[in-house]
Amino acid sequence: MPEFDVQPRGSHFVDGAYIEDKAGAAMEVVYPATGQVIATVHAATAAVTERALVSATRAQAAWAQTDPAERGRVLRRAADLIRARNRELSRLETLDTGKPLQETLVADAMSGADALEYFGGLAPDMTGQTMRFGADWAYTLRRPLGVCTGIGAWNYPTQIACWKAAPALATGNAMVFKPSEATPLCALKVAEILVEAGLPAGLFNVVQGAGDVGAALTTDARVAKVSLTGSVPTGRKVYAAAAASMKHVTMELGGKSPILIFEDADLESTVSGAINGNFYSSGQVCSNGTRVFVAEALAPAFLDRLKTRMAGLCPGDPLDETTNFGPMTTQAQMEIVLAHLDRARAEGATVTGGDRMDRAGFWVAPAVLTDLTDDMACVREEIFGPVMSVLTFRDEDEAIARANATEFGLSAGVFTRDLTRAHRVVAQLRAGTCWINQYNLTPAGMPFGGSKQSGIGRENARLAMDHFTEVQTIYVGMGPVEAAF
Ligand code: NDP
Repeated sequence: MPEFDVQPRGSHFVDGAYIEDKAGAAMEVVYPATGQVIATVHAATAAVTERALVSATRAQAAWAQTDPAERGRVLRRAADLIRARNRELSRLETLDTGKPLQETLVADAMSGADALEYFGGLAPDMTGQTMRFGADWAYTLRRPLGVCTGIGAWNYPTQIACWKAAPALATGNAMVFKPSEATPLCALKVAEILVEAGLPAGLFNVVQGAGDVGAALTTDARVAKVSLTGSVPTGRKVYAAAAASMKHVTMELGGKSPILIFEDADLESTVSGAINGNFYSSGQVCSNGTRVFVAEALAPAFLDRLKTRMAGLCPGDPLDETTNFGPMTTQAQMEIVLAHLDRARAEGATVTGGDRMDRAGFWVAPAVLTDLTDDMACVREEIFGPVMSVLTFRDEDEAIARANATEFGLSAGVFTRDLTRAHRVVAQLRAGTCWINQYNLTPAGMPFGGSKQSGIGRENARLAMDHFTEVQTIYVGMGPVEAAF
């Protein structure tokens, strides 16, 4: 087995430096493509978490007073450093998650850099309002919340860290970030680069650990906001815990998103959209369009073309840039996906593909499910793996009703050449982010987030600045004060 030199200099990044405390439980970092242990980190002890919160609290007070233009410059320098080191960071992302380098070179560190650049540019533009009341007037300021907790899922560890850090820091907050225990390495690099770019120590800390460390960071009185990317069940717990002390929250949770493909759609683009929305990152993408509703008249051609295009699948060494399909990120996730597929078969679905691949590591072949009904578990539940469910519909109203018949509301896609229909349909879809004739693109300037059980709040775009600040209103009296006596 090859040696990978990815052992970090310390498990945590606190107050501007790597630190270690081996009293915390050891967490092995496994390369999902082979099952090989490539690094070991330790979960944060209470002492480590305390150091992170103390340093964040101290640093935030000064950062909030720093000229927003200077805050923005730091973030933009970090974006430049990330871009310059994209290959090194992408390799690390690949080793942490198993996603092919072909993907990580374009979708992870680069997306993180985009967010840092975007919010770096926006930092000086945190504006308020003025209102007149006769001679008196009032104005509003947008003020940072203080110390924020970020908690990440394992599918996009670099991107998630950057998407949370960038708007938080741009608006004058500090952050303590807990990566998923499955992918602890990438956020440490983000912290290291931010400090190299000039971010004062203590403003972005990374502490490792499982849910208990996240829970401690969710209930601490010094924390003003919790931003979680994770599953709906975890979101419910974190939201409830944060409510006890009235913290702000952003919840980026799971989904079971629909893609609606009408009979007039461009066939090649719809197949590409469905492939991207189901098999990119081996299906481990929250916004995936896992319920593909195809107009009955187009379904045979769609399935035929999909079959042909699946021949282009190239699983293999994720570090080889010709590989376009990687393993599940964890053994547990592989087992969850295989169990879902067994259940789908038991429920009567036709499952094409979907076998465990005969190699070391956590590999599941992509699966296309047909002969489905909307009440089957595989059509209702988030699987978070390379599993595409293909369903057919007869008319637009039916497609919309079935697309909306889910507790989730993260995303949706509509493929049609009919512009009027495209806009009419998305207006009726209850999903936080919709794509027309495209799927899963998430530029930093576009709000992203879920409706219904898929979350609350939005990441990215100017909206994220609002979610990391609160309004302070100032009434200005211009005349004498009158009183009853
Ligand atoms: P989990 O919900 O299992 O975990 C998310 C994070 O929360 C992890 O860091 C986890 O720690 C932590 N955590 C678990 N319990 C608690 C708790 N009680 N208090 C505080 N933190 C806790 O999600 P996964 O990591 O399995 O990620 C997959 C899920 O994330 C999918 O549902 C997917 O749809 C969703 N997701 C949503 C995105 C979005 O933007 N909407 C984007 C990406 C993924 P640990 O696991 O280390 O123990």
